[in-house]
Amino acid sequence: MIYDWLAPALKQLLGQRGQLHHALLIHGPGGIGKSAFAAELAQALLCESPLPDGAACGRCVACGWFVQRNHPDFRLLTPAAAEEPRDTEAAGTDEVGRKPAGKAGAKPSRDIRIDQVRALERFTEVGGHRGGTKLILIDPADALNTAAANALLKTLEEPSGATRFILVTDRPDALPATVRSRCRSLPLPLPEPAVAAAWLAADAGVDVAQARAWLAAAGGSPLRARRFADPSQAAIHRVLVETLAGIPETGVMQAADALADIEPSVWVAALQTWVVDLLRVRAGAEPRYFPDRLERLMALSRRTGLPELQRLAARLDAAARSVDHPLNARLTIEDALLGVRAALAG
Ligand SMILES: [Zn+2]
Repeated sequence: MIYDWLAPALKQLLGQRGQLHHALLIHGPGGIGKSAFAAELAQALLCESPLPDGAACGRCVACGWFVQRNHPDFRLLTPAAAEEPRDTEAAGTDEVGRKPAGKAGAKPSRDIRIDQVRALERFTEVGGHRGGTKLILIDPADALNTAAANALLKTLEEPSGATRFILVTDRPDALPATVRSRCRSLPLPLPEPAVAAAWLAADAGVDVAQARAWLAAAGGSPLRARRFADPSQAAIHRVLVETLAGIPETGVMQAADALADIEPSVWVAALQTWVVDLLRVRAGAEPRYFPDRLERLMALSRRTGLPELQRLAARLDAAARSVDHPLNARLTIEDALLGVRAALAG
């Protein structure tokens, strides 16, 4: 299944399947369906009787294996922490979600590790079981840690036989330049707002106005916005927005308590979008993420200086980078919130 807004890009790509580069780097904003796009592309490239337009037939033995996730010439590289790739947005819950229960120390890796890449070596050396394409999908590719990325380079450069790579990421800049330069870049854009709103309204069973509000809160990303339709997610989103809007009057400890059960990457991302909107409103632009909080954003942005907000944005960028280390989560929350209060207390 491919999302409407990505169908033209897939069609164009499959129309030239004979000339495709052996390593494609699919990138674009989070929550637009890149993982689904990559899976569809992978299935089409492995399909043994593709349709005239190059799409997967859905009926051959290769398509059957692919759907069952046991195609012998296909490998998916993804962090152990993700049963599904991070960007498998359709059913994902990790972006706006409660923290999974369990001890922090027992958390599976969020990295794609070097042993996972080494395990590919044998796969790429032997001939394909079906005598055709062998395909490796790496999603999200920015989860490759440095050692894993280095180990990948050689195979990526000189793949043996008909080995193909598809890399997927929200953050191409986070990949080593050595990996990027060996791939053909394939950017996918955000859908047009009208297209996304129509899809979301139909998919979530809401009116277009509600769909537009959710899309705004999700920065235009339809699959992120789709998650707001889930009642439990909507509740989390409300807590986030209320907490963010309450600072600086709300005390830092109280705000940190309110956010304690929410996945750190989620609230840091929300905090970053809140500050983006503060900067936008301060510059006289419309808020992008929280259009229904215009008044509060205006009141807050009048009380703070541009340098303070810019410093805060940089501080939050740093928090976003370190937030995956679970032992620091509470400290990271408090530090980020202290930064917000300092910038906004005027
Ligand atoms: Zn097929």
